[in-house]
Amino acid sequence: MHFSGYRVLAEALRGGKGWRPFWRKAAPADEYDAIIIGGGGHGLATAYYLAREHGLNRIAVLEKGWVGSGNVGRNTTIVRATYMIPGNQEFYSASLKMWETLAQDLNFNLMYSPRGLLQLFHSDGQRDAFARRGNAMLIQGDDAQLLDREGLRRLVPYLDYEQSRYPVHGALLHPRGGTVRHDAVAWAYARAADARGVDIIENCEVTGFDITQGRVTGVQTTRGAIRAPRIGMAVAGRSGQLVARAGFRLPVESHILQAFVTEGLKPFVHHVISYGMGHFYISQSDKGGLVFGGDIDFYPSYAQRGNLPMAEHVMEAAMTLMPAIGRARVLRNWGGIMDMTPDGSPIIDQSPVAGLYLNTGWNYGGFKAIPASGLSFAHLIATGAPHPLARRYRLDRFATGAVLDEEGTGATHHLH
Ligand SMILES: Cc1cc2nc3c(=O)[nH]c(=O)nc-3n(C[C@H](O)[C@H](O)[C@H](O)COP(=O)(O)OP(=O)(O)OC[C@H]3O[C@@H](n4cnc5c(N)ncnc54)[C@H](O)[C@@H]3O)c2cc1C
Repeated sequence: MHFSGYRVLAEALRGGKGWRPFWRKAAPADEYDAIIIGGGGHGLATAYYLAREHGLNRIAVLEKGWVGSGNVGRNTTIVRATYMIPGNQEFYSASLKMWETLAQDLNFNLMYSPRGLLQLFHSDGQRDAFARRGNAMLIQGDDAQLLDREGLRRLVPYLDYEQSRYPVHGALLHPRGGTVRHDAVAWAYARAADARGVDIIENCEVTGFDITQGRVTGVQTTRGAIRAPRIGMAVAGRSGQLVARAGFRLPVESHILQAFVTEGLKPFVHHVISYGMGHFYISQSDKGGLVFGGDIDFYPSYAQRGNLPMAEHVMEAAMTLMPAIGRARVLRNWGGIMDMTPDGSPIIDQSPVAGLYLNTGWNYGGFKAIPASGLSFAHLIATGAPHPLARRYRLDRFATGAVLDEEGTGATHHLH
């Protein structure tokens, strides 16, 4: 099914009768060449690139709920390439480049909006740190511009620059950073994977693994046993629980991250603004809602919903930075389960069980990683070797000490 201006017009005139479901309601077969567990962004992208780049034609994605019910449909849609250390830098830079052409690639309007990301700073020391990060981004081939207070004020006049807690001194502007419509990404990858023959099987929870002599041979699910020699796991905040069923543990903690949206307002927030000191960030959706969020809960949880203490913390930060927001009415808040690693960077690697591959540890930044992650994970599953983009995302780095701690936070999961 192809989208074009002509097709949209023609379907409008005949009541949309020619549109087809985006993907088949596939039933599980007995056996596949590869199974991907998790129909989130990473799982669906992996299935798509497995079919497209590696020619595997018997692939299943097993999703315990429905496509988009996890973090891929719960995030605040921000994409950026603002990383500094080798390993992260080339990976996220490649991912942002993929976002720029992904709508054409998948023939789906993903509403990629490079509106510019502003990361605020509040002291001379913090300005120097951002200047260094900006230079690293420029060397990598991405874009960055340091703005002083007056330069920033011209772009975002509505901030409280003189606040006594964290007076705003300026910002690092990343012009190509922005937003992408999150559920469109899930639907687009699902549709494109289905078109290449991938079975997308919803309401199918993986409950266990069949392992013979240290090698995985299949999975147990709520819809029966399914065999496959290669199994990729992309279940985000459920990673720790699922690997326990394969008999090992991961250095991953699950924490809740919340987000909020207000009623629709006329456009006035034209950028993505990140206020790190206050644990607050905001953008405005195309429907006009202010979309914002803050920090994760400081204790592990699988609750997948919001709670009032963190709502209060986020609202306080919002009021400090842009008091005008106090006039807006919040419509909804929600939560997602984050897969937090001790160094804040992901894992794309083989597991201790042969044939079982891991894609996890996205912390609260895995949406923007989806294209590069899908490409890299598909490569690993198909060839058994790490993709050059993801070669440092090894599981054993927590044992060897080769950690990728972007901000020097230290080994505390919830602080990344
Ligand atoms: C509030 C919030 C804001 C965020 N904001 C951003 C942002 O602005 N930018 C950014 O880059 N990132 C952001 N993130 C993080 C990003 O959304 C995640 O890192 C990323 O979506 C995780 O990967 P995924 O899409 O594959 O996960 P998910 O969509 O969660 O996919 C995992 C899937 O696995 C399924 N599953 C779990 N267990 C099983 C099982 N046993 N059997 C079968 N299926 C199973 C789940 O149902 C789920 O659908 C945010 C997250 C949240 C919650």
